[in-house]
Amino acid sequence: MKLHDITVPISAELPVYPGDPKIEIQRTLSLEAGDVANVSHLSCGSHIGTHVDPPAHFVRGGIALDELPLDILIGTARVADVGNVDVIDLLVVKSLDLSGVTRILFKTRNSRLWGTPHEFERDFVYLDTPAAEFLVKAGVRLVGIDYLSIEKFNFEAPTTHLALLGNDVIVVEGLDLSNVAPGDYELICLPIKIKEGDGGPARVVLRELS
Ligand SMILES: [Zn+2]
Repeated sequence: MKLHDITVPISAELPVYPGDPKIEIQRTLSLEAGDVANVSHLSCGSHIGTHVDPPAHFVRGGIALDELPLDILIGTARVADVGNVDVIDLLVVKSLDLSGVTRILFKTRNSRLWGTPHEFERDFVYLDTPAAEFLVKAGVRLVGIDYLSIEKFNFEAPTTHLALLGNDVIVVEGLDLSNVAPGDYELICLPIKIKEGDGGPARVVLRELS
C-alpha cells in the first residue's frame, strides 16, 4: 500500500509564523573538518513546518504534546479538496459528507506554496470559527490544514484555535497535500515528544487504504 509523505522538510529557508523564532541549523561537528561525526545544533520555535497544536497551545491546563492520545493521531482520515476558496467557512464544511469522519485534512491552494521557496504568506486559506464549531459538533477529533496556521492571519482573538483545542480537537498545521488526491487514507501523525510541549514538529504520512 502506497505511502505519501505530507511533511514539509525543515530547513533554515522554511518560512516561520511572524514573531516566532527563526529556524537555525548549524553543524557543530563535521566529518569534513576532521571531526569523528556530523552533529548539528538546532534552534527553532515549537510551531515550525508540519507540526501539531495540542490543546495546551491555547488552553490553560490543556492536554500537552506528550499527553496526546495516539489513537487520535493515527487512524482513518479524509483529505478534502476545497478547491480555490479563500476561507473554509460554514458553506464549505456543510457541503462535505462528514459521516464517519474523525480526522479531516483540508487541501487548499496553500499546498502550492510549498513548491517554491517563499516568504511567509499572510493571505493563506484558513478555517473560520463557525466552520470549526461545525466540525466539532460533527464529531471530528483532528483537523489538518496545509499552511502554518489554521487561524485567519491578524486575528483579534484566536477563536478558531479555541473552538477546536478547547474541545480537545487536535490541530495539525503545515501539511503539504499538493501530491495527494482527495479521499480516505490512514493517517500516521507523530509529533516529537516534548514534555509539557505546547506544540512540535511531526512526521506525517498517509497510507493508501487497500
Ligand atoms: Zn501551531
